[in-house]
Amino acid sequence: MITRFAPSPTGHLHLGHAFSALTAFDLAVAAKGTFLLRIDDIDQGRARPAFEAMIFEDLAWLGLTWPEPVVRQIQTHDRFLWAMGRLEALDLLYPCRCSRRDVEAAVGAPQEGVPTHGPDGRIYPGTCRGRSMADAGPEDAIRLDIRRAIEAAAPLPGFDDTGSEHPGHHSLDSVDFPQFVGDVVVARKGLAASYHLSVVVDDADQGVTLVARGADLFETTPIHVLLGHLLGLPIPTYHHHRLIRDETGKRLAKRDQSRALRTLREDGASPADIRRMLGL
Ligand code: GLU
Repeated sequence: MITRFAPSPTGHLHLGHAFSALTAFDLAVAAKGTFLLRIDDIDQGRARPAFEAMIFEDLAWLGLTWPEPVVRQIQTHDRFLWAMGRLEALDLLYPCRCSRRDVEAAVGAPQEGVPTHGPDGRIYPGTCRGRSMADAGPEDAIRLDIRRAIEAAAPLPGFDDTGSEHPGHHSLDSVDFPQFVGDVVVARKGLAASYHLSVVVDDADQGVTLVARGADLFETTPIHVLLGHLLGLPIPTYHHHRLIRDETGKRLAKRDQSRALRTLREDGASPADIRRMLGL
C-alpha cells in the first residue's frame, strides 16, 4: 500500500491536517506499506516557501517519516501537459474566459430543485462550450465538456472507499454529472492543471494506492475517478475520514490559528497530546 499526504503550502497546518497525515501514515504502517509526502504547490501565486518549511517541521515533530526526495507539483508540470494533451485529443476540452460575474449573469435566477453549486463550485452554464481549443489563449481557463467526457469514458468505472464516512463501492453510474457537477475546470488560467487534474496525475505517477483525505473531498472523488479513467490511469482506493471541527461544529480552516499545530506545540502540547485530541 502507498498512501500520501499532499498539503498545499498556503498556510499553517492545523489539527485537521494532522488527522489526515496521521491517518495516511498509520494506514501505511499497518499495511507495511509506504507513506509519501507531496507538496501540492501548483498554484505558485499562493504557495510560500516559509509554509513549506513549516510543513516539514510540523510533520517531523508529529513523528512522521517519508522517503526523500519529496515531489513538488512544480516538478511534474510535463505530466500535466501530457494529461491535457490526452483530453484534448479526445476532443473533451474547451477554453473559457468567463469571469465569476459573467457566470452569475448567465445563470440567472435559481430554479427550485436545480443545484447551483457542485464540487467544482458554481455549476457552469456552458457559455463557452462552442469554443475551440485552437483559439485558447493565456487568458483562458480550460474546461472539460462533461457530457462528452461521460460518453468517452463509458462504461463508467467506480471506486472503493474504506473510510468511516462513505464506506463501500461507489459506481459513477449513480452520479448525475451534468446536473450536479457541470463542466469542471481542468486547467486554471495561467496554470498547467487545476487541483482536480493535478492530484489525479500525481497520485497515479507516484503509485499511490490509497488516497486518505477528509470527507469534505468525497464529492470531488467522482471527478477524479472520471479523469483518471479517461487518462487510462489506475484508480486508487479512497479513504474519506471524518472531519475535525471546532466547538461550534465548523470545519477547521487554515486561517484558524488557534488549532495550528505550531500554536499547540508552542503552548506545550506533545505529539501524543495531538493524537489524543484527535482520538487516534
Ligand atoms: N493539495 C490538496 C489540499 O491540500 C490535496 C487534497 C487531496 O488530498 O486530494 O487540499
